[in-house]
Amino acid sequence: PATAWPAGWQAGHAGLGPAFATPVAPSPVPQPRMLLRNAALADALGWAPPSAEAELALLAGNAVWHGLQPVATVYSGHQFGAWAGQLGDGRALLLGTLETPQGPQEIQLKGAGPTPYSRRGDGRAVLRSSIREYLASEALHALGIPTTRALALVGSPLKVRRETVETAALVTRVAPSFLRFGHFEHFCHHGHHAELARLADWTIQRFFPAAQEAEQPVLAMLAEVSRRTAELLADWQAVGFCHGVMNSDNMSLLGLTLDYGPYGFLDRFDPSHICNHSDHQGRYAFARQPSIAGWNLQALASALLPLVGGGPSASEAEREAAVEGLLGAIETYRQTFPIALLRRLRAKLGLRTTQPEDAALADDWLALLASERLDHTQSWRRLARLRSRHAADPDPTDPAGDRWLRDHVIDRPRADAWLARYRARLQAEASVDAERAARMAAVNPAVVLRNHLAQAAIAEAEQGGLDELQRLAQVLARPYDEPAAALAHYAEPPPADLPPLEVSCSS
Ligand code: AMP
Ligand code: MG
Ligand code: MG
Repeated sequence: PATAWPAGWQAGHAGLGPAFATPVAPSPVPQPRMLLRNAALADALGWAPPSAEAELALLAGNAVWHGLQPVATVYSGHQFGAWAGQLGDGRALLLGTLETPQGPQEIQLKGAGPTPYSRRGDGRAVLRSSIREYLASEALHALGIPTTRALALVGSPLKVRRETVETAALVTRVAPSFLRFGHFEHFCHHGHHAELARLADWTIQRFFPAAQEAEQPVLAMLAEVSRRTAELLADWQAVGFCHGVMNSDNMSLLGLTLDYGPYGFLDRFDPSHICNHSDHQGRYAFARQPSIAGWNLQALASALLPLVGGGPSASEAEREAAVEGLLGAIETYRQTFPIALLRRLRAKLGLRTTQPEDAALADDWLALLASERLDHTQSWRRLARLRSRHAADPDPTDPAGDRWLRDHVIDRPRADAWLARYRARLQAEASVDAERAARMAAVNPAVVLRNHLAQAAIAEAEQGGLDELQRLAQVLARPYDEPAAALAHYAEPPPADLPPLEVSCSS
């Protein structure tokens, strides 16, 4: 990589040397068009290109600013539970790390053409999947869920062949780091322990400075990665987000949601929902996500073994001690996740206090949603309107605020029994309905990026229209606000007669 970086830019971990990244020039696209530009993020980053033309040329991969040296980084990983060997940035190019008011941020083009890690791929991304990535990353951010961000979406008429012929697009992604579990797995697997150590040192110094104080900084880092991963998975499970491809190369070391492919937000609550049409075994089904994250942390822990005294020259006893240390660090995940999830579920129920029966109350609510095939987002949102007691001036059409639920269930006695428990729980903490409703509306979104909403925006964009895309992006930026009457359909489940969309790894 180049040695001279323009003011405000640096190399990031790619600057550690040729073992980590390969310089790659982006491949230009014809007739680039700025389809979405994230002005709020640009402002927050102090992202100020010299002109709109210069920005478009850079983010289309048609020009590289003087002094920047785009690179593709190398990683490996486990895909669908099996070692997949070397992967790497097959279609992402890191432009560099930009100094911003939010700290250093990596700026990455996804879909900028082939790299040494493209294997049989073309290095491109289609418009459809690029729209999905842009919208989802900004939707999760607006929900308060850690994620990589999207700065821009550039389209081009360049033809890209998938199952059919589609057109190309590029997403400009932004994150403090795109480091994946797979970056560490790569150097361990290939026996490059010096590089592994350099990567860990750099990562700890940059992102986990507190770990430097620990007796074994690598273990402290792993424990912190485990904690962040637990918080992230709790976020996903609470909002009904299904990632779809939780391969270890798609797991962020910083606990960010990373690599949006065949993801899906749940409509009906179905714990066994598989959002990735290519996932025939259901490995990444919604309810399995938390245990899969634990599995991936084990893969990361194994990769760190040489760094904590378990290298090839270690004695049996040293190795055992090293393994024990690693297992202790990732135990943080198993301990943090249930607590983190229950904290969110309590908030979603509008509870202020903590009672031993809260976990069962939340579980039984979710079981009710599942057996009644109720919409996840809408059900939580509407629960806020429930009255804990019959009010003095109740709505005559719905005095208890629970008609929506009672009207939509088949097993009414079961729903009534749950409602009675919930009401008793609310009364026990002297809950005030209006205050509870406001608390619940702040944590239970009205709008999530349902597949059919994304699909409508994609269909229009594929014909050159951007209205739906821009409107949807705006609505998703304020997910906890009840959309205006004219936009009410954004909060609705898909029409019953709409066939479910099949989303696969093809992107
Ligand atoms: P994913 O399943 O999206 O996480 O991708 C797994 C690996 O395949 C990564 O190394 C990607 O960079 C690579 N990849 C995916 N699609 C393409 C493509 N169209 N061209 C080149 N590499 C790709
Ligand atoms: Mg990936
Ligand atoms: Mg991907």
